[in-house]
Amino acid sequence: MSINEQVNAAIHTDFDGKAELAMDHSFWESFIDHSADAIGLFDLDGNILKLNKATETVFGYSREELIGNKVVTIPDESYREEVVDLQNRVKAGESIKDFETLRKKKDGTIIDVSITYSPVMAQNGKVIAMANILRDITSQKKAREELQKSEAKYRLIAENTADLIRILNLDGQIIYASPSHVRTLGRDSKYYERIRDFSFIHPHDLPVIGEQFQSMIIDKSPIHLEYRELHNDGHWVSLEAHCTPVINETNRIDSIVMVVRDQTERKHTEELLRNSDKLAVIGQMAASIAHEIRNPLTSLKGFLQFLHSNSGRGTKHYYELMLSELERINLIVSEFLLLAKPQVVRFQKTCIKRLLDHILTLINTQAIEENIEIETSFAERLPEIECDENQLKQAFLNYLKNAIEASEPGGKIVVTIDSDDHFLKVKVVDHGHGMPKDTFSKIGMPFFTTKRKGTGLGLMISQKIIANHKGSVEFDSKQNNGTTVTISLPVTRTIYVKEE
Ligand code: ADP
Ligand code: MG
Repeated sequence: MSINEQVNAAIHTDFDGKAELAMDHSFWESFIDHSADAIGLFDLDGNILKLNKATETVFGYSREELIGNKVVTIPDESYREEVVDLQNRVKAGESIKDFETLRKKKDGTIIDVSITYSPVMAQNGKVIAMANILRDITSQKKAREELQKSEAKYRLIAENTADLIRILNLDGQIIYASPSHVRTLGRDSKYYERIRDFSFIHPHDLPVIGEQFQSMIIDKSPIHLEYRELHNDGHWVSLEAHCTPVINETNRIDSIVMVVRDQTERKHTEELLRNSDKLAVIGQMAASIAHEIRNPLTSLKGFLQFLHSNSGRGTKHYYELMLSELERINLIVSEFLLLAKPQVVRFQKTCIKRLLDHILTLINTQAIEENIEIETSFAERLPEIECDENQLKQAFLNYLKNAIEASEPGGKIVVTIDSDDHFLKVKVVDHGHGMPKDTFSKIGMPFFTTKRKGTGLGLMISQKIIANHKGSVEFDSKQNNGTTVTISLPVTRTIYVKEE
């Protein structure tokens, strides 16, 4: 029996239509006073006739304070109109269900309420009073808002992630598909929400997926799948998926959340990694091959020299050519060996001035031979750097040799060393022929050289050495104007270098 009917049944009316509300007290107690909702009975002028106990709990007023008055529990007078309007509708015979509005408790707290209004009718069908049932829905509403917020949050994630998110029913059909499907599979999410077969799954993978899906439903535990799905343009996309059953209060599976990820990229990276492994192996092999080449080269050179010294005049030229070609092979192999050979790198605190002085002594003979002056300008106080001396020497030698080779006789090269808090800067400035744009873009590439007897490995090796020292190299060059090489090396204490 609805409240309306209960109230109606409890009301006796006289025949001239005047309401005589004789309420059976025990009935009121048993049905209405035990309700957790506030229940009230109003006369047609909107005055409160009766209230149940719960009204006191909901609003904090005693019933005596309220009965006989109009509604006082509205937050402010602006709500009066709403109350009057609702009561007018009820007076006209309308029932109003779950009307949500605000009310104020005696202590001033504003609460969210849901009110159901019903007209109370006499047997002749005339409305003689109004009943209302009011429920405090503050916490319910808050929970609903929280839920909406968290739903919005999850939706935001689902709508924006690159992963494919799906919600499936127990038959494996997709109820929701995230927008990211277009990007990965070329098809709109609506396609997946509509499709009722599994034609988009690779036929070879389907039976296994089916089995795993069934076991997930039986065990109620997540599964991991690796399989293929059809892209809109006809190719198969490798996917990995994580399926988690969503279990409701009755311990049944409501739905399945599936997060699917495109594996193509990962597979590609794995392949790259495998390839770089291969490269490392090739590097190691190259080192031993270089050794193998150098040994016979040495004996070839020896015998050629021997034959050369015993040869007649006519063949001298050929021997010289052969020897110089052998020398070239030797040079290339040595430089290559330096590049590929596993080297024990020993980092030590080093004074850069001493290191450069040492190199300059070494290179000066060549410079003097070519009539080139090397000028130095070192800052007074320079921090020490941690480096592998031999490697760094090799790099600086390369830069200096290139500078000499680019300079005209009578030219000048300036070497400066400077530092700031973080970096030590070595500059090698020459006024030689410089580089045209075309050359500039290719320097450092293996075997790129513009010299008749060059190897095109010097800069590449030097670059690698400086990078091993966590440093950087910068070139500035203008054709016919000279080149400046700036080498920056960190002055930090610890340098982490991987052993090669
Ligand atoms: P290589 O010296 O054996 O040719 P490098 O790797 O040392 O090999 O140099 C590659 C090329 O870069 C050189 O052939 C040259 O064309 C250009 N290059 C390098 N340093 C300079 C420089 N200081 N001035 C002009 N060109 C340079
Ligand atoms: Mg060189």
